[in-house]
Amino acid sequence: MGDQIKYQLDEARMPRAWYNIAADLPVALPPPLHPGTHQPLGPSDLAPIFCDAIIEQEMSTERYIDIPEPVRDVLVQWRPRPLFRARRLEKLLDTPARIYYKYEGVSPAGSHKPNSAVPQAWYNAQAGVTRLSTETGAGQWGSSLAFAGSLYNLDVTVYQVRVSYDQKPYRRALMETWGARCVSSPSNETESGRAVLAKTPDHLGSLGIAISEAVEIAATREDTKYALGSVLNHVLLHQTIIGEEAIQQLEMAGDDPDVVIGCTGGGSNFAGIAFPFIGMQLRGGPNAKKRRIVAVEPSACPSLSKGQYAYDYGDTAHLTPLVKMHTLGSEFTPPGLHAGGLRYHGMAPLVSHVKELGLIEARNYQQTACFEAALMFARTEGIVPAPESTHAIRAAVDEALRCKAEGKAETILFCLSGHGHFDMAAYTNYLSGKLVDQEYDEKELAMALSGLPRI
Ligand SMILES: *Cc1c(COP(=O)(O)O)cnc(C)c1O
Repeated sequence: MGDQIKYQLDEARMPRAWYNIAADLPVALPPPLHPGTHQPLGPSDLAPIFCDAIIEQEMSTERYIDIPEPVRDVLVQWRPRPLFRARRLEKLLDTPARIYYKYEGVSPAGSHKPNSAVPQAWYNAQAGVTRLSTETGAGQWGSSLAFAGSLYNLDVTVYQVRVSYDQKPYRRALMETWGARCVSSPSNETESGRAVLAKTPDHLGSLGIAISEAVEIAATREDTKYALGSVLNHVLLHQTIIGEEAIQQLEMAGDDPDVVIGCTGGGSNFAGIAFPFIGMQLRGGPNAKKRRIVAVEPSACPSLSKGQYAYDYGDTAHLTPLVKMHTLGSEFTPPGLHAGGLRYHGMAPLVSHVKELGLIEARNYQQTACFEAALMFARTEGIVPAPESTHAIRAAVDEALRCKAEGKAETILFCLSGHGHFDMAAYTNYLSGKLVDQEYDEKELAMALSGLPRI
């Protein structure tokens, strides 16, 4: 046997609690504001769309929140996930760096998203909710919630961004297999959808519009709550199981990352792998080594690197609370790129906040550069990554090449958030030279930013 590739935890060592970074922040997160009054939000303002347990987690400052036993019983089907050492990729790059990754692509839905879909569905079922509404970009979150809903007999309706509804029919088939109803967004089922279609009948859709539709349904129906797949504090909380596992596994490997990397759409898989490490640094003590934490986004939708840090709406119809985040403006429609899960105008308030505090870095890449790295990865490690995850791989490869140039044997850890088995059209395009880099429209961005609400 050669050198070790996988670092595995027993089921019994799966983390028993999620880590809440709010407990360790040197400056508290700016509060969400009511969209009408602009006053800080109270728990009752969220009650029409979320159940009490979720609202409590959203506002909690407890450092650790126990994962309920019945939720652990489901998560354990695909967790703990091994930590992989990318030895063959290291060899290809001829780098002195050690590259590790957490692979989230073997959950039932093929990404990290069931880590939050299962607890969200469980808490809602416990509260007597019978229907959930949600949005989905690339179809990953919609299929994760469809899977989770099927475990607890919840009726799930998914508003899927039109461009991916058309491009990814198999994601829809997956949602329907798990019993959910999938609707192309903008749709005729809601006021918000009809308003968009009246202005632009062939609108490609966006996450901002799909969120408006899903929130509207939840707010207007007694039996329905809303579930969000990223951005909010409780979603980031649920994903910290990734980083909590990685800390134990790197200890097994006798290693400690110098660089931690995740791709960022709304920020949940990035926060999942990164926040437990940032927490160690914030708390001080023997594990407080300063690690570089890198968030990676598409150049076509660079909210963290090019957006403004300001109060903005999470959706296009302005039904959601105002949250302080890096935003390209809720009116901004990013170009239709393959990494649909990264195509969101805003960023998680917690991720934006730690960026403002100087605790993380942000960078962005064009999609051809990402697919180039994805092929290196697929042809060495064997896994075909989701288009979103290719952004994290690009950054990990670049860091490893920097280590080579500087002659430094650093340790790099990244989150491989999902597999790309439903995204093979993107690979076909790349392999046939048809995949092109996408630029956003500067004028549209300026207009969207000038429309930010005045607080
Ligand atoms: C949804 C998704 C993302 C982006 O969402 P985050 O909340 O930023 O993690 C990234 N990768 C995959 C595979 C996804 O499905």
